[in-house]
Amino acid sequence: MNWEPWTGCYRMSAGCDQCYFYGPNAKRYGQNTIEKTDKFDWPIRRNKKGEYNIKGDKILATCFATDFFLPEADEWRKEVWKMIKERQDIDFLILTKRIDRFLESLPEDWGEGYDNINIGCTVENQEMADYRLPLFLSYPMKRRFIACSPLLEEIDLSPYLAGVDHVSLSGENGRDARECDYDWVLNIRDQCVKAGVTFWFKSTGTFFKRDGVVEKINPFKQGSLAKELDISFLDGKKLF
Ligand code: SF4
Repeated sequence: MNWEPWTGCYRMSAGCDQCYFYGPNAKRYGQNTIEKTDKFDWPIRRNKKGEYNIKGDKILATCFATDFFLPEADEWRKEVWKMIKERQDIDFLILTKRIDRFLESLPEDWGEGYDNINIGCTVENQEMADYRLPLFLSYPMKRRFIACSPLLEEIDLSPYLAGVDHVSLSGENGRDARECDYDWVLNIRDQCVKAGVTFWFKSTGTFFKRDGVVEKINPFKQGSLAKELDISFLDGKKLF
């Protein structure tokens, strides 16, 4: 399930250039105005019986169509932290390209982190890995993962894998997507094997290069082809 308390975003780094929601070919979401959605308080809404509308024991992918740490959402985020704290029975999954705004965005009672939050730092190339991941690893949080999404080049993650629970990887999707080379994918997988970190090859992206040949993959097949290649190892972790 996805929860978007706000909508709107804008380019942050190279990985945003073909953003599905706000990039050059965005159709449904082709705007950069940041505003609250009508689902802002969704996790704490109750029905007439006084029960939460969203039952517990769920994973809520939070801000996957915007960025949780946008400065424009600073005031709203204070309320969102309270909702997250109230719903200890839900796992909130937060993915961001703005991890450098983490410390200034925390609630006062954060301490070493809330138990029910899993934070993902997105890195699309070596430059962003070398900038974002040392910061990411230095911040207090209970669970963390790295999302190579979209993967734009070979990345050496090996200096940053200690203390990370999981790595997910996707190629870029879209008409003008940049190609994703299977050798880069296998290389990152090897790094995860050596570090004992679970790995999920989630999607090939649109232009997938294998053995020197670039193939155009239908959007509906990018996930299934990645799965068919059978290189993920998840050790019982839930997919998201
Ligand atoms: S941060 Fe994410 S949602 Fe925002 S423009 Fe970049 S890719 Fe799109």
